[in-house]
Amino acid sequence: MSATEGSTELKIYQPPAALAGSAHVSGMAAYEAMCQAAEADYEGFWAGHARELLSWKTPFTKVLNESEAPFFKWFEDGTLNASYNCLDRNIERGLGDKTAIIFEADGGEVTKVTYKELLAKTCQIANGLKSLGIKKGDRVVIYIAMSIDGVAAMQACARIGATHSVVFGGFSAQSLRDRIEDTGAVAVITADNQVRGGKQLPLKSIVDEALALGGCDSVKNVLVVKRSGAAIAMTAGRDLWMADVVASQPTSCEPEWVSAEHPLFLLYTSGSTGKPKGVQHSTGGYLLHAALTTKLTFDLKADDVFWCTADIGWVTGHTYITYGPLALGGTEIVFEGVPTYPDAGRFWKMIQDHKVSIFYTAPTAIRSLIKAAEANDAVHPKSYNLSSLRILGSVGEPINPAAWEWYHQHVGGGRCPIVDTFWQTETGGHMITPLPGATPLVPGSCTLPFPGIQAAVVDETGKDVPWGQGGILVVKKPWPSMIRTIWGDPERFKKSYYPEDFKGKYYLAGDGAIRDAKTGYFTITGRIDDVLNVSGHRMGTMEIESALVSCTELVAEAAVVGRPDDTTGEAICAFVVLKRPRPTGDEAKAIAKQLRDWVGKEIGPIAKPKDIRFGDNLPKTRSGKIMRRLLRSLAKNEAITQDTSTLENPAILEQLGDNH
Ligand code: ATP
Ligand code: MG
Repeated sequence: MSATEGSTELKIYQPPAALAGSAHVSGMAAYEAMCQAAEADYEGFWAGHARELLSWKTPFTKVLNESEAPFFKWFEDGTLNASYNCLDRNIERGLGDKTAIIFEADGGEVTKVTYKELLAKTCQIANGLKSLGIKKGDRVVIYIAMSIDGVAAMQACARIGATHSVVFGGFSAQSLRDRIEDTGAVAVITADNQVRGGKQLPLKSIVDEALALGGCDSVKNVLVVKRSGAAIAMTAGRDLWMADVVASQPTSCEPEWVSAEHPLFLLYTSGSTGKPKGVQHSTGGYLLHAALTTKLTFDLKADDVFWCTADIGWVTGHTYITYGPLALGGTEIVFEGVPTYPDAGRFWKMIQDHKVSIFYTAPTAIRSLIKAAEANDAVHPKSYNLSSLRILGSVGEPINPAAWEWYHQHVGGGRCPIVDTFWQTETGGHMITPLPGATPLVPGSCTLPFPGIQAAVVDETGKDVPWGQGGILVVKKPWPSMIRTIWGDPERFKKSYYPEDFKGKYYLAGDGAIRDAKTGYFTITGRIDDVLNVSGHRMGTMEIESALVSCTELVAEAAVVGRPDDTTGEAICAFVVLKRPRPTGDEAKAIAKQLRDWVGKEIGPIAKPKDIRFGDNLPKTRSGKIMRRLLRSLAKNEAITQDTSTLENPAILEQLGDNH
């Protein structure tokens, strides 16, 4: 079956009966009714949810302001506080003694905090920040590993109206410096070190290095949380232990009531396609979508134990750890470690131990765990009791049908819907996603837009293309949690997301998509520049990757890019990680031929890769995404001159460039 030809033989998974009857959105009729409500009264739809899900200090009277499009404003005359909504509001609803966070450290130690305790901790940090003169509108960079302190630090910034910018703890001093400089932060919150996979890795010394690189004069203080007591240098007058700063601070702190448009945070995109952009998010619109999507996409209920495995350094960790689940009074897991330590059964063991009911992770993690599980029964999900699970989720990249099926069968026991959530740092929350009690699922498709989201597939001129035909993914109307601007670069914001060729009308996601000819379901075909044109045939790279990975005996992971070709216009180049050691010489040639034939059989001869290269891994961002722009250079055998600041494994470039 070829997605580009519009499919006819879809494999469909209906929502399980138990869920279909009890979910927040039960059945397709309920989903459609929500979509129609949004269509009939777009502003009324969002305003209704904003009143129901959030507590406002001053109620808003205006909903959407389009007068300075594409710089849209939502709920602009309303005031609120994000941390009040995530903490105090739940305590007022009687959830003060409910567990907010179950933290599991790398080594397995478990710490729990209730809503009351998390509020007290947040307020102490907030008061501590205030005592250093940090105030509303200041930026604070947070460079810390997964921890209760990390979540509380974000909440504390929100409480005083400071704008946080979390930088993933795997970034180098140079990347950290660039982000500190770009934000003009007055303070950095960090820890002495972090522990991942049994190893202690530095944090504070990297902050020192970053600040020494220059350009960070805005930083007055560095606040250090003690993680494991590593010996670190403290610069007098600048560096302070967090414990000392908060020791004498009261455990309550009046929230700073801010306008709904006040910037809650800045976050840099993962850099898959270019230099990372400082995405600016609002308070009211962002928090609304964080809460609404957590409620409907994950069907979060009072007794659920929710686990999003993303790091708080990525948008997924912001929306589905720090804000969404807490805004709803949920109980969630925060995990410090890695999925493969002490062994590749760690996720399954934690689901078993904590009776996790909703599990949200990335395709890259699933694919690597499949590889491990197939090699060793002890770390296979079947060796654990995963019966607590009721909903699974996927995010970050398209999930290929083979990985989807494995996740569904082996992790979800065939009974848990998988919500394949398409969204971006810029969108703040889910855009196209199934709702677990309503949407029939098709592996590899993110299905249908979240209610209220006007997603569409258009051609280069902005005209709708018919279902069954590939095109460019856009969002036709502004939505509450959308990016407000790129920090310090409004021109780049306009050019990237509302370019002239679309008459500045639609939000341009940068991804290609196709809607199924019969059902209208969306499949993401890759980034816009990942659509290949081979002898006049247009194909998404994603489709060829899926075909390769569906050769489950051999292939663990695959990435496909195009390169200019004299005869066919573009030629297909595939980078493949096998389930066995990397072959070379004649063996590599034989396996390449086998895979070429396989793709020919799965999609058609036109999709056969001209060039297949084998690697131990693929070049990935620190958030685990394949960096295709680097593969494009490798395919063309050209030197890499692009921004590689977010590349996790630079050594792999040499291997993939070489074995051609
Ligand atoms: P940059 O914008 O700097 O290149 P990035 O786009 O990788 O980096 P993110 O905002 O973290 O940064 O990722 C959003 C992108 O991830 C989407 O545009 C899309 O390409 C991909 N993506 C996320 N979720 C899905 C999904 N469920 N299905 C398909 N693609 C997805
Ligand atoms: Mg992007």
